[in-house]
Amino acid sequence: MTGVILVVDDIATNRVVLKAKLAQAFHQTVLAADGASCLAEARRVVPHLILLDYGLPDMTGGEVIAHLRADPRTRHIPVIVISASPLPEDRLAVLAAGAEDFLQKPVDDLLLMARIRNVLRLTEEWREEAGRVAHLAEEAADFTPPGRMALVMPRAERALALRRALAAESRDLVFPLTREAALAENGPAGHPSAEVFVVDAEGGGAGGGLALLSDLRSRSETRHAGICLWTEGAARPELAAAAFDLGADDVLSAAMPVAEVAARLQGVLARRRAAARLREGLRDRARLADIDPLTTLWNRRYALPRLHAMAAEARRQGTALGVMLLDLDRFKEVNDGWGHAAGDAVLREVARRLTCAAPDALIARWGGEEFLIAVAGLTAGTARDLAERLCHAVNARLFPLEGLPPVPITVSVGLALGDGREVPEDMIDRADAALMRSKSGGRNRVTVERSA
Ligand code: GH3
Ligand code: MG
Ligand code: MG
Repeated sequence: MTGVILVVDDIATNRVVLKAKLAQAFHQTVLAADGASCLAEARRVVPHLILLDYGLPDMTGGEVIAHLRADPRTRHIPVIVISASPLPEDRLAVLAAGAEDFLQKPVDDLLLMARIRNVLRLTEEWREEAGRVAHLAEEAADFTPPGRMALVMPRAERALALRRALAAESRDLVFPLTREAALAENGPAGHPSAEVFVVDAEGGGAGGGLALLSDLRSRSETRHAGICLWTEGAARPELAAAAFDLGADDVLSAAMPVAEVAARLQGVLARRRAAARLREGLRDRARLADIDPLTTLWNRRYALPRLHAMAAEARRQGTALGVMLLDLDRFKEVNDGWGHAAGDAVLREVARRLTCAAPDALIARWGGEEFLIAVAGLTAGTARDLAERLCHAVNARLFPLEGLPPVPITVSVGLALGDGREVPEDMIDRADAALMRSKSGGRNRVTVERSA
């Protein structure tokens, strides 16, 4: 799992060292030296992850995260804070602000790389859907019910001690659970189903806590639950790295202040609930059969009537309508060179980049590697600017592929401008003619067709 990672640190050496380590794991990096440029870069590139130094010259890590969370374009980007600060209140502030993790400098390389892979994998759902269904994630309920946290610890006294300590910190329902009950079909009998499992690393049974973690992660009943590993002393980096590679949401320990354990559990619960809302929302829409399953963009069946409605509205209001067709350049070579699965991954990432770059547009998968984008109310100039921006959003960055070096992808765009009086099918034909001119003119460009 590779991604685009924004590295924020005011010390140039730290940035360069991290960049080199990330490059070895095939991640792409974007660098920033302070809070303000972090926010600007986050909006510009919408990275898959931000590695944030806590002490920046212009703001604290907590402030940076608050700004990121306040902007719909950057709200879903996961953040790992890396800091030299040993202060418990700094850790708490960052975790409460919504950071995925707070790692203490100097950070063990093995652990850092495992945590990065882990967060990229856990947030994959967000990465693909965030722009499209952001409104669902924002529907935070007025009343959030208490969480249901199961402690799977073979020694009853440990579970009791943790339960007592957490009772002072949170209003969640915390209950002990045996390994057998955790793995029971249809959820544990006689218990409320758990939203988060805390699994003792020294858990009984073959393979200990790591084996149980892996079992829980792979079973359909518990696949989407939060799962944390628990260690009595501070976790060894190799153990934590192994847990993260098996899909743990976090690694907690008795060596942490209990307020930090509670804050981390709250973070896991909040992220798991948000992901569940996202899945439900997607399922509802998929049921309507309007969604292209590969990219989760609207399909042609949905988009064409929508375009007719947009044209009618433009006619009524006397406003402009822009229709674009966007086709990947020499896409056959991606399939031929890297395989069909890599081609699919590229299509999904293109869909994500387009959605981030034009959140208000109607975006549909029109054909195999062809997308239709319609926007209302723009002038000829701003419609062209948007087309250029979409082209750039796709072309400016390499595409990360699972287990492969990143590949360059470009697109060609044809833009037809109108006022809604022409039938949409004719506008699409004009956009297609413009697209053909972009292709014959050398690809990786925008061509505009003015009103017929
Ligand atoms: P051009 O620059 O002229 O557009 O070249 P091209 O190779 O992109 O164009 P062509 O139309 O010859 O090839 C399109 C390719 O897109 C062929 C087809 O296999 C591939 N394709 C279409 N749908 C999918 C899909 O869902 N997944 C994958 N992996 N490939 C697809
Ligand atoms: Mg093509
Ligand atoms: Mg094509």
